[in-house]
Amino acid sequence: MDDDLQLLIDLHKGEYRQGPGADQETEKAIRLANIDPKTPYNIADIGCGTGASTLTLARTLNCEITAVDFLDQFLEELQRRAEQEGVANKISTLCASMDSLPFDPESFDIIWSEGAIYNIGFKQGISDWLQYLKPGGLLVVSEICWITAERPKEIEDYWNNQYSEIATASAKIRQLEEEGYSPVGYFILPEHCWLDNYYYPIERSFESFLQRNNNSKAAQEIVEPEKEEIELYEKYKRYYSYGMYIARKPSN
Ligand code: SAM
Repeated sequence: MDDDLQLLIDLHKGEYRQGPGADQETEKAIRLANIDPKTPYNIADIGCGTGASTLTLARTLNCEITAVDFLDQFLEELQRRAEQEGVANKISTLCASMDSLPFDPESFDIIWSEGAIYNIGFKQGISDWLQYLKPGGLLVVSEICWITAERPKEIEDYWNNQYSEIATASAKIRQLEEEGYSPVGYFILPEHCWLDNYYYPIERSFESFLQRNNNSKAAQEIVEPEKEEIELYEKYKRYYSYGMYIARKPSN
């Protein structure tokens, strides 16, 4: 494995989440999608990291979850947490890339993915994954978006450079429609999802991360862009967030 990827794993593996989100917002999406806690569901959680959303789904629903990530070390941590919480019987982990999933068509009632689809791009992800949903199945996916029609050039340039598919929520919903989904609802993740649950914990770990990696140039080059991202969020957070999108594959 490449050294930079190993450093990224080292920085993020100990955190509860690897991206913005919250257990309450996962639960809110479950309610908004009208998912019945008693009905048995087959769920894929794609880009699950160390399993924040996987564990909430397992605690809340009557389900079998396939938790997918391409990093074994994250999946091992997820498995450990699942055992600790007594929900391991509901979860199987799968080390695979989200752009070449080994699933049969129409395998899942629900595809869940928080803060991860950007790795292959929203458009490709929603298009590829549709085939794995049963007719009438649900996609629940979070994705960065602009929350105003206009924004300062500094932040527009920064995020366009980081992720060229960043767009408004209305544009994301239009894409879901164009790919054949029927939108069910969406909401914007509040600030605590970014700060309390993601940026502050990671900021607190920068020093120990640098120390255990001998303050190497490579480790510093991981921390500096993270600091920049956090500073920009604090300055421009009224212009962007993550949207949580819920959409249904039409029934036959
Ligand atoms: N869903 C988790 C959460 O909200 O805490 C993790 C979000 S993290 C920002 C993105 C995750 O996607 C990471 O766990 C990363 O390993 C995974 N990932 C990145 N590229 C991937 C790929 N091509 N296939 C599968 N997983 C991938």
